[in-house]
Amino acid sequence: MADCVFCKIIEGSIPSSKVYEDDSILAFKDINPAAPVHVLVVPKTHTESLEALNEENMDIVKKIHSAIQEVARIMKINEAGYRVIVNCGKNGGQTVPHLHYHVLGGAKFDEKII
Ligand code: 5GP
Ligand code: ZN
Repeated sequence: MADCVFCKIIEGSIPSSKVYEDDSILAFKDINPAAPVHVLVVPKTHTESLEALNEENMDIVKKIHSAIQEVARIMKINEAGYRVIVNCGKNGGQTVPHLHYHVLGGAKFDEKII
């Protein structure tokens, strides 16, 4: 999508610090990290949010989760553990309208929302 910041990162017109890439997924470091390790995992096909997932495009969820495991291994947080967050829509605090999973690690998170 033309004015989507994550689509621009995927096509390479905005630089990013890439962590993992395959045919359908890109993972890159968050520009404003909220933890020692903070990686965003996104589908290469523009998908607005978790609410835009449906029977036709839901296969990407399996690929995203597999990529998250790979990112955790690459960043060496797989054994200690990590947190995965998906903000969805206005009340969820989503600021970039391209589906993304935050992978946070490298520290123990003491605050618990749930
Ligand atoms: P959201 O608030 O939508 O769940 O998360 C959006 C995330 O994207 C934020 O954590 C923000 O720091 C990150 N972000 C926004 N613009 C860019 C960018 O141009 N490059 C990178 N690497 N991260 C970005
Ligand atoms: Zn996009």
